[in-house]
Amino acid sequence: MNRRTFCKTAIAAGVAASLPLNRLLAIESGALASDIPAVTLSGSEITLEKAAVEEFAGSLRGQLLTPSSGGAYEAARRVWNGMFDKHPALIARCAGAADVSHAVKFAAERNLLVAVRGGGHSISGKSTCDGGIVIDLSPMQGIRVDPERKRAWVQPGVLGVSLDRENEYYGFITPMGTVSHTGAAGLTLGGGFGRTSRKHGLACDNLLAVDIVTADGTLRHANRKENPDLYWGVRGGGGNFGVVTSFLYRANVAGPMVLGGAVVHSIDNYKEVLKFWADFQATATRELYIGVGTFPGPGGDPIVVIDTCWCGDLKKGEKVLAPVRAFGKPLADDIKVQRYVTLQASNDEGLGHGVREYMKSGFITETSDDLIDAIVENRNTSPTAWFFIMPTGGAISDVGLTDTAFPVRNAIGNMMTGTVSPDATQDQAAIQSTRAYWKHLESHTRGYYINLNEDVTEKKTRSNFGPNLARLTEVKNSYDPDNLFRLNANIRPTV
Ligand SMILES: Cc1cc2nc3c(=O)[nH]c(=O)nc-3n(C[C@H](O)[C@H](O)[C@H](O)COP(=O)(O)OP(=O)(O)OC[C@H]3O[C@@H](n4cnc5c(N)ncnc54)[C@H](O)[C@@H]3O)c2cc1C
Repeated sequence: MNRRTFCKTAIAAGVAASLPLNRLLAIESGALASDIPAVTLSGSEITLEKAAVEEFAGSLRGQLLTPSSGGAYEAARRVWNGMFDKHPALIARCAGAADVSHAVKFAAERNLLVAVRGGGHSISGKSTCDGGIVIDLSPMQGIRVDPERKRAWVQPGVLGVSLDRENEYYGFITPMGTVSHTGAAGLTLGGGFGRTSRKHGLACDNLLAVDIVTADGTLRHANRKENPDLYWGVRGGGGNFGVVTSFLYRANVAGPMVLGGAVVHSIDNYKEVLKFWADFQATATRELYIGVGTFPGPGGDPIVVIDTCWCGDLKKGEKVLAPVRAFGKPLADDIKVQRYVTLQASNDEGLGHGVREYMKSGFITETSDDLIDAIVENRNTSPTAWFFIMPTGGAISDVGLTDTAFPVRNAIGNMMTGTVSPDATQDQAAIQSTRAYWKHLESHTRGYYINLNEDVTEKKTRSNFGPNLARLTEVKNSYDPDNLFRLNANIRPTV
């Protein structure tokens, strides 16, 4: 680079740094030539006045995007599940808690429909909306691990992989999901099952405090002593009570190496593998995560997979997993000692952003022969269908049913099935085939995980929260009486 180019570049960089360039880009290229049509919480149409939107944009440290912001808006409106192609009126890309508060107040004053986005992985597309505002937390990516106190402060745009890696540096693990790019925020608020949850609990069981902007725009701190009702509600009650701007987690001494991976069997041996798994998992200690399911195989035919992670002493783990590896005639066995963060990314392939997915899930408390027959004999033969039982129990069941808002503590597994639709024309076929299979399975379930089954009736949502519903409703009445935060497993306020 010659001196002149260097000077020009340096000046340009200086100018860019001194101006709120991102924000200017969002507003100027958006050319707010006119008012913006929008939608209220009740679905009626309103107009957001140009001046009010510009004032709102000016209050933010982050960007405010509108449908006329071009590529930035197009990129920001996309969520993980490609089945949801929505067009919000506004996307507030928040840079901090103050931005979140401004966005909540702007929305509440206008009864504007609100979606809250962390990692964007909502299966049912609840983190986006048509005509409302998306409070987009994805720019908030900060993490600070405190090795002395064994704590991790995490901002709400953080993905599981980022927390896993920061924790790894100190030899810690906080349970996050089994696909590494899933958001920590939505996952934790709904529960949060991971490969080490049988040992260390749900993500929400590791949550020690939050900062949260409630519907009146106030930023509050909640923990065991301060706002204990809110603290109770955010551990399993989803996004009902406000926008969490910071999560404080326990960091457990674990890893960085674990023993894990998959053993693959032919679909011809499906029933035998399920029976083996059912007996084996029944006696598993809490260091062991062992799940079972079917997935489309490399050649297109389905394969049966036993998925494992042992997070205890590695030598002991080899012995514990030996029968799993010796059972039957596996087509493949990739169980090995590896970094926990590597295993955490092992399911990522094929699950990137834009996948069109429809799924159902429910908890099981036993694996009876009837259930195994129902799983095998009615198998969804769609080439893109999958089925999985994720193991639960262990430390998850140590927590009392009403100690947190999370409503199902006695399960041994989370049974899930879904179908990926190759394109929009095949969405309905994928939905129908999943629902048809689920009809055979649902009667074996006892409650469901709100993070994986949100497209259900209000009646079902209420009954799923079981003994926690009354307290959840009280918390909702206190902090969100107008139900501003309703795109979630919604608890309707009663005031
Ligand atoms: C590929 C894939 C793999 C998954 N694997 C697992 C798994 O192994 N274990 C598991 O437990 N779950 C798993 N899930 C489900 C996952 O827990 C949910 O999809 C969860 O909502 C993802 O969180 P997110 O922040 O990415 O989602 P988002 O779509 O951003 O948010 C989902 C909802 O959470 C609420 N929300 C998000 N952030 C905030 C916030 N800061 N404050 C208030 N409310 C907020 C909102 O109601 C929002 O609609 C998986 C999902 C996918 C798509």
